[in-house]
Parts: sequence; C-alpha cells; structure tokens
Amino acid sequence: MSNENFEFMRRKIIAGNWKMHKTFPESLEFGRHLNTWMIANKPQAEVIIMPAFICLEQMIKDLRNSKISVAAQDVSSEARGAFTGEVSAEQLKSIGVNYSIVGHSERRHYHGETDYYISQKVALLYEYDMTPILCVGEKIEDRSTGRHFDIVRNQVIGALHEQNISKLKNLIVAYEPVWAIGTGKTASPDTAQEMHAYIRKVLGEEFGIAVGNSASILYGGSVNAGNARDLFQQYDIDGALVGGASLDLEDFTTIINARN
Ligand code: PEP
Repeated sequence: MSNENFEFMRRKIIAGNWKMHKTFPESLEFGRHLNTWMIANKPQAEVIIMPAFICLEQMIKDLRNSKISVAAQDVSSEARGAFTGEVSAEQLKSIGVNYSIVGHSERRHYHGETDYYISQKVALLYEYDMTPILCVGEKIEDRSTGRHFDIVRNQVIGALHEQNISKLKNLIVAYEPVWAIGTGKTASPDTAQEMHAYIRKVLGEEFGIAVGNSASILYGGSVNAGNARDLFQQYDIDGALVGGASLDLEDFTTIINARN
C-alpha cells in the first residue's frame, strides 16, 4: 500500500516500565499522585506507565479520565490456549490496555525471545488494535566489535517485516542499549542520537519514508532526572522509556517535565 497519506505524527512520550516492582496498593497510590501532578503541571509529553499485570485493570479504571495511559510490560506470542502463565493481546484489550512493550532485553535474555517470536507478539497486538512499544538495542560486545548498527537493524526488521505497513503509522520504538539498562551508564546524547537517526533511516528504507518520519523513537537505559533534558535536545529522540527512575514520583515527573 502507498503510505503517502500518513500523517506526520512523532509524539513526545515518557513511558515508565516498573518491571517486577511495586505491590498493588503501591501502584495505585503512585497512579493517584502522578495524576494529581499531571493535572497541576499539564506536561507536553504523553505519559504511559507499565505496572505489573495484576494492577492493570484497576489502574485503568482509576485513571480513565486522566492523561495517563496504563500499559502492559509484555504480551503472549500466542493468541489463546494452553500457555500457562501467559496473557494474550485479546485479554489485555478486554480490560482496556492499548499498549504493550515487546522485545525488552530482559525478555530476550532471560526468556530467550527471538525476533521471530517478537514479530508474532507485534502481529497480535495489531490484530487487537493495540500499539507495540518495540525495544531494540545492542549488547556491549556488539558495540565493541562494531556490529551495533547491524544488530539493531536486524531487530527492527525482524520484528516488523511481516506486518501490514498501514499499521506502522503509529509505531513506537525504544532504543535501549543493553549495556545502559539498569547500569547507570547512559548512552551519551550523541551516541543515542546516532542510533535513533539510524533506526529512522532503516524504517524509512524498509517500510517507506512516512513510517520513518512518523515513528516515535524513545531512548531507554539509565535515564534519570539529571540526564533526561540533554538527551531530549537531540533531534531524533522523541522521549524515553524509563526503568528505575520511573519508580520515584519526583524523578519521574522531573523527566516528564524535561520533555516539554
Ligand atoms: C528499562 O528496563 O527499560 C530501562 C530503561 O531501565 P533503566 O531505566 O533502569 O535503565
């Protein structure tokens, strides 16, 4: 299909991935405080928080009239059936979830998720009109051997090449170098910008210039209240996927404000 009619819609997004942190009451309390802050401060960036699965339904209800989206940290690569412990795209959609992370490096590493497997998740999310937040990023040994661009290119294409191009217009990609996640070693703004521009170029070459131009590309990897603003100065960095610093309201809201 021609993608000439795509609207150019890069979005400023700050997403908080809580991983396996916060109990149910703690998550709800954070949501309430964040909402109060959002009403008072009216930030420019869209805000997405990803609590544990057990919190999704209640947080979506609590925050339904707010500007905060509540999203899943993962989704099954299977549509339904005998897959103990898995949660499907259809199930997430049935409680009002509209986004899910796919391909987080912790899933790739601890659960052996391959690009093919991740592409199945992307397809199921699209089938239920949800938006994947596709995480890509190289390991330190990939960078030290000069293979980082190829690795990231393969991850992007591997997850997206079988998708219908018309779905890719609201694409969200998070560049998360594995060596920067949870380590306190953030990529420098120049290093991050270089890879973000590359990802945009790959998207444009593979799926059409409009897909590249409209993709929101977030940086993730030890983003904190002190380094966010410098990262957001870079042309191709649309926002951030924040792990550790999203657990603290003051740090997280400082990062949200930095994206104004
Ligand atoms: C993440 O897990 O997606 C992440 C970016 O974590 P952190 O911000 O803690 O490095």
